[in-house]
Amino acid sequence: MTDVSPESWMQVRPEGLYCKPADAFVDPHRPVGRAIVTHGHADHARSGHETVFATAETVAIMRTRYTDDAVTGAQPMTYGERKDLGNGVTLWLAPAGHILGSAQAVIEFGGRRIVISGDYKRHFDPTCAPFELVPCDVFVTEATFALPVFSHPPIEHEMAKLMRSMASLPDRTHLVGVYALGKCQRVMAALREAGYPHPFFLHGALVRLTQLYEGLGYDFGSWQEVSKIDRSDRDQFRGRVVLCPPSALADRWSRSLPDPLPIMASGWMQIRARARQRRAEMALIVSDHADWADLLETARETGAGDVWITHGRVEALEHALKQQGIRAKALDLVGREEEPE
Ligand SMILES: [Zn+2]
Repeated sequence: MTDVSPESWMQVRPEGLYCKPADAFVDPHRPVGRAIVTHGHADHARSGHETVFATAETVAIMRTRYTDDAVTGAQPMTYGERKDLGNGVTLWLAPAGHILGSAQAVIEFGGRRIVISGDYKRHFDPTCAPFELVPCDVFVTEATFALPVFSHPPIEHEMAKLMRSMASLPDRTHLVGVYALGKCQRVMAALREAGYPHPFFLHGALVRLTQLYEGLGYDFGSWQEVSKIDRSDRDQFRGRVVLCPPSALADRWSRSLPDPLPIMASGWMQIRARARQRRAEMALIVSDHADWADLLETARETGAGDVWITHGRVEALEHALKQQGIRAKALDLVGREEEPE
């Protein structure tokens, strides 16, 4: 057997993390021949690859966001299904608990296993399969919220806050800024869980992805598109939830609503300045990522001797892992923006 040290077969290239013997990239940020895509968020799932290995849900999301031909060479996989990538490399996908279809890429070669977490979370989320711990030699982790200050509250806590506000401010349209993929559907599901009985009102930009979830069997109860409701009938929004993309919280569109109360739902809402940037008057801390404690705990639980950190707040996590005796290092990947949470 030749050298199978992980660094010899999993490398950082300008396009992204590269599995050399399989000639495949993980979440490449520009078009490549063979791409393993962990999930449908835009900074992970770019269009234009010749072949895409991803869950069927992620492929469906990519087809919805781009065009059908953006994902011509898709090889949809189910969780746990093993795929031979050639040259002795095996790929399988494990649930990451981040959004619908999100996966950890499990890549095995030369008797070693590398798990690339993609984005993941450990908190319960009824809109996707729960995170599955996969023991490995190398764990490649995200680090979006890798500072001790980040501790995400249970979503029930945040939804209760929103329900209380609707009860105490029944004249105001509760306009909640959510990202279209994942956050929107999770907030709707959580509000139903909290007992919210009314139809949701959705900005048009949230409709297609919500319908995609529904097509896959997820049920958010009744909802209507805001633009389909006559301006003269919009008083029904008072004391109710209207969902929109974050960019619409403070734009012209929101002025067509009666007395809007801008609210932002995001993991970043733990930082007050972020809420102010969004001109949100209320902040709901709803994160689809692991918080500090979960990042450390998960890395430890995988039993990996090596942890590579892909993006986010690298230094603090690297330091904390080293203190636990884990060999940690930051991967210098280009093209990764801060996750639009
Ligand atoms: Zn993501």
